[in-house]
Amino acid sequence: MEPTCDAASMHAWSIELAMYAFALSTLLMLCGAVYTCTRDDAKPAKKTKTARSTDPFSLAKAQTDFTNLTSPLLEIFHWSRVVVDEYTYIEGEKTAITSLSAQHRWCLSGTPPTSTFQDINGIAAFLGVKLGVADTMEVKNMSKVELFRHFQQTYSSAWHTRRHELAQEFLERYVRQNVADIDEIPFTHNTLPVTLSPAERAIYIELDAHLHALDMKSAKIKNKSSDRDSRLSAILGSSSSAEEALVKRCSMFEGGGDMCSAIIKARQHQLEACVSEFNEKIIEARILREAIVRADSAYDSTTEPFSRWRSSLETDVCGDGEANALFKEQAVKAFAAPIIAIDTVSAKNLSDKAYELREMVHAIRSLQKECVGRLRSLRFFIGVRKFQQGTMDDMCICGKTVDTIISSCGHSGCHACIMEHANKQLCVADGCHSTVHVTDIVSAPDLGTSDTITGNHGAKVDALVSLVQQIPSDERALVFVQFDDLMQFVAEALEDDGIKALQLKGSVHQRTSRLESFQNGQAKVLLLDIAGESASGANLTVASHVIFYHPLVTPSKQQYAATQTQAIGRAVRYGQTRKVHITHMVAAGTIETEIMAAMS
Ligand SMILES: [Zn+2]
Ligand SMILES: [Zn+2]
Repeated sequence: MEPTCDAASMHAWSIELAMYAFALSTLLMLCGAVYTCTRDDAKPAKKTKTARSTDPFSLAKAQTDFTNLTSPLLEIFHWSRVVVDEYTYIEGEKTAITSLSAQHRWCLSGTPPTSTFQDINGIAAFLGVKLGVADTMEVKNMSKVELFRHFQQTYSSAWHTRRHELAQEFLERYVRQNVADIDEIPFTHNTLPVTLSPAERAIYIELDAHLHALDMKSAKIKNKSSDRDSRLSAILGSSSSAEEALVKRCSMFEGGGDMCSAIIKARQHQLEACVSEFNEKIIEARILREAIVRADSAYDSTTEPFSRWRSSLETDVCGDGEANALFKEQAVKAFAAPIIAIDTVSAKNLSDKAYELREMVHAIRSLQKECVGRLRSLRFFIGVRKFQQGTMDDMCICGKTVDTIISSCGHSGCHACIMEHANKQLCVADGCHSTVHVTDIVSAPDLGTSDTITGNHGAKVDALVSLVQQIPSDERALVFVQFDDLMQFVAEALEDDGIKALQLKGSVHQRTSRLESFQNGQAKVLLLDIAGESASGANLTVASHVIFYHPLVTPSKQQYAATQTQAIGRAVRYGQTRKVHITHMVAAGTIETEIMAAMS
């Protein structure tokens, strides 16, 4: 849906209602004035009139104590014009603003979303127009009946077309779009690709392979209280999605080879935790099965799930020789462990217990899958490190020295043998049933041989530092970073290199004083959260360099474009006297390149 274009400026004669700008005392004085004025101009009130009809809001009493007011302050007035600036940041359709009475209503936004009916309905709500029912009521706010109807009701395509027409009609009638007249402010867009050092690359691909091996590329952690889910969420660290974790991995490095060793140690630890849970679960299942068999002699002990799982160990069900040997070893241990206490199973709860056992076997199989994923990604990372440190001495099945590694299972071989197998989607290693694609193949020379992190904090920050250092001393830069911990990291790294940087975050007071400091030239760099609201509307034309430290992580292309436009608009706007340089930093060969390609 497209709003109509209109060059006439909407800002020209607006009387803006900025609610927060009114001090309470001023308002009360204003109320007093209105009250007095009405009283003086009106004909003398008849004595029969009650106080309520001449002073419906109890303004007289409010002169001494504002709590005597019988109506919210702003709702006392009938406004000539209510202007809602940056309306997109107001959550929910029913707000104090929609209950104000006014002759005219305006909503302003630099980047209003207009792609769905819901977006348009959101604008309409502020004008007191209801276009139709909301179709994305939050499931958590629904009653059971609503939830049921939500799944039951499907609308015809004619219904959707009608809604679309209504929304378009609304746009044509009420919405006007100004063409930003900033042509005279010149600006340039540059992409700055950054090559990660071999050690950094290894750290990045380790996480990528790890998330892949554990099927976490798009999964959400549901229940952090379970051992398994808390182990999985530990991989994401402070990130809420795999995408976010990977973007951070391209940009935050510390300690070089130490960081690699720390990762190996952490992964080994996580694998051990997984294996020991596997062991405990087997013992639990054994105890339960024993109890069921004692209570029910007819319980089939060869086809029930636990026995079937046990015999599957003999057939290498997990498709990884090393993992299978590990499972067998653990199973032997778990079956040798003495059973101390036994559950009480009676005829009454027999079927419940049998169900419980099935669930337990299911959990054991999940743990097995997790172990295989962990083992493979750990094997891959250890292999990569060996190549980089020149300590790889494994031999290929053909007898040659290995020079190639497979990222999906961590097995290595000579390039010719690996390619020959990969063409049949097979792994070169004996007993490995991993499906190998040509894209999973990494050759050792590509991994490099350096063991260090570029500079002190990695190639990405290093590139940022030299970019900022090239900026003439009287010019300043805005650096956009999306995540809090990443922003902190960048700020510290810049300070380490002697570049004064301020972070635009914290309370309103803190943000205002930092903005002032930046505008007064007390810092070279202002760090802003690209996705946050802290900088929305702020005029930062003192800066003539806009740097995106990484591509924005957003669910939609439209949001990506809107957020970026708004960010650039901080510097490219009236008052800018210099040419603006916009730089997009991208770590080559990582998820960042993929995001850039997908979003532009
Ligand atoms: Zn393999
Ligand atoms: Zn070979």
